[in-house]
Order: sequence, then structure tokens, then C-alpha cells
Amino acid sequence: MIIDLRSDTVTKPTKGMMQAILEAEVGDDVYKEDPTTNRLEKKLADMFGMDTALFFPTGSMANQAAIKMHTQPGEQLIADKWAHVYNYEGGGVSFNSGVSCKLIDGHRGMITAEQVAENINPPDFYHSPLTSLVCLENTTNKGGGACYDFSEIEKIRKVCNDHNLGLHLDGARVWNALVAKKEDPKDYGKIFDTVSVCLSKGLGTPMGSVLIGKKEIMQKAMRIRKVLGGGMRQIGFMAAAGIYALDNQIERLAEDHKKAFEIAEVLSQQQFVKKVEPTETNIVIFYLAGEISEEKFMNDLLQKNIKISAMGQGKLRIVTHLDYTNEMHETFLETLTEYPT
Ligand SMILES: *Cc1c(COP(=O)(O)O)cnc(C)c1O
Repeated sequence: MIIDLRSDTVTKPTKGMMQAILEAEVGDDVYKEDPTTNRLEKKLADMFGMDTALFFPTGSMANQAAIKMHTQPGEQLIADKWAHVYNYEGGGVSFNSGVSCKLIDGHRGMITAEQVAENINPPDFYHSPLTSLVCLENTTNKGGGACYDFSEIEKIRKVCNDHNLGLHLDGARVWNALVAKKEDPKDYGKIFDTVSVCLSKGLGTPMGSVLIGKKEIMQKAMRIRKVLGGGMRQIGFMAAAGIYALDNQIERLAEDHKKAFEIAEVLSQQQFVKKVEPTETNIVIFYLAGEISEEKFMNDLLQKNIKISAMGQGKLRIVTHLDYTNEMHETFLETLTEYPT
């Protein structure tokens, strides 16, 4: 038994999902003739109360396409210093859009309306790049699955309106926020211009993200996806997995959260742990108390077939997910309690 807690991307399709994939009705999606993909896109647009949606192979591509749609070369976007769009998309913001990032020193990957307002370059001051977009992340990845207080997002929208800025949500794990905070996706649809959501993390499909947005801005989405090489053919097989996940695998995220809270609780009682970040969803971030190196700790776990990940600067990360069973959970908690033996 391998207990893989490195990420919620390691899941494999369940039997029910495999069945949905096998039975999918498909066509050529580049001609927009794949009925299952069209159905998934409509379902997500409706769910968020937005005009339209488009399936992408990855979350990075969906975010990068959104940034391209919102900006012109030479402009600047505002994001937290830990943002996925800045740190983990291969430099795509500058490569694809010729845009720079104004990085904000936020709290656990989240920024405030006040910080956004302070970091907008005055549009008539032609020496500095024109600010045109704000990117938020919910839940935050590097911030350890932290969730925004929705009222702060509303305040950020107001600042964006006052300064004519686009507002994009990197919602790779927005499902976790929706479940943890009992929020309504339609509230997100009212606030954001574009939202990217991931189907292959907590929701457990083999691949795929969807960009959901307002009609005017989404007009450019098909062309940009094509330019980025993301036009796909009989992708309905994967869209079917997505529909299945939306129908069957959202509520169960609460179980992942519960397991993460229990892990955080056990960790915080161990001598070898210095600090555990507050755990809000399915990500636990913690630091060791010095005597043991992260490398040794991870290696010791690996000897017991347990995998976790290091995020640099002493941060260790555990992510719970669909394939992390109750049995694995018991074994893992026991291993932590008995560590280092
Ligand atoms: C995983 C993730 C993405 C998308 O990653 P892909 O691997 O390209 O699908 C985007 N944003 C955040 C916050 C993520 O955690």
C-alpha cells in the first residue's frame, strides 16, 4: 500500500467515472461538435451563472489564456507573491502575454482590496506599465488551502470597477472553498470576469480544467486556446469524467477536509513538529522542529511507503484526496504518532 499525499492530482478514476468515460458520446471539439464537452461547458457556465465556458487540457493553460484575454503586451497584472500564475506556470505570463506581475506580500496567498488599490499604477503616468488585471487564487495552493473571506473579494471587485481592471480567479481548488465555506458558485460568477476551475485535483478526473466567463471577454478564448495548442478532438471522454465528478464528487471533499484537520491535529502534538499552519481545507503545511532535516523526515516516511512533498523554506506539504482511504489515514496517523520509530 502506497500512501501518496504529495498532491490531490494523484487520483485515478473511480469505477463509476470509468463507466461514464466508456459511455461518452463524442465528436470533434475543434469543430465544437463534441456533445459531451458542450454539455460540460454549459453545465459549468450555468453552475456559476456565467455566459459561457471552454474546456482546457490544463489549469495552467486556462489561466494563461485568461491572462492573454485580459491584457496587452507591456501591461501589468496584480497577484499575490505566492500565486500559481507567477510561480508555477513556467513564466507563462511573460512568455505568452508579454505582461509583468506586480507581486503583493499577502497573507497565506491572499491579498486585500487595500493592497490592490495601493498597487495600481496611475494610468496617465506613462513611465510605468499599465495595470489591467487582478488575479486571485481560492483556495490558495502555496498558502496551504486557505480560503478568502468572500466580502474581501467583493471589495476587490469594487476597486477593479473603479480602475477599469479585469478580475480573474484561479479556482483550481475553488471546489474546496465552496464546500468549506458553504458558498454558492453563482456568487463567484457575479464577481469575476473569468474563473478557471480544475477537474483533475479534488474532483478526481484524469485531466482537464474549464475556463468560465463573461461573453465579451470569452470571445477570444477559442483562438487563444488554439494558439496555445489546446484545441482537442474527441475530448468528450474526459468531459464525461468531468460531468460525473461534478455530479458525484464535490460534496465528498468535506471528507478530505476532515482527514486534513485530523492530520494537522496529530502533527501539532508531535515533538518533532515546530509549527502547523491553520488548516482550512485539504492541504496541511507544517515545519519540523530543527533536530530532523526535511530530507531525513521525508525519507523515513518513504521507507514506510508514505509520500509527502517539500515546498522549500522548510515547508512540508500534505494534501488529502479521493484515493486516500480511511485505512491509509489510520496507518498514517499511527506512523506520525510513533515517529521516529
Ligand atoms: C494545480 C493548479 C493549477 C493548474 O495546474 P495544472 O497542473 O496546469 O492543471 C492552477 N492554479 C493552482 C492554484 C493550482 O493549484
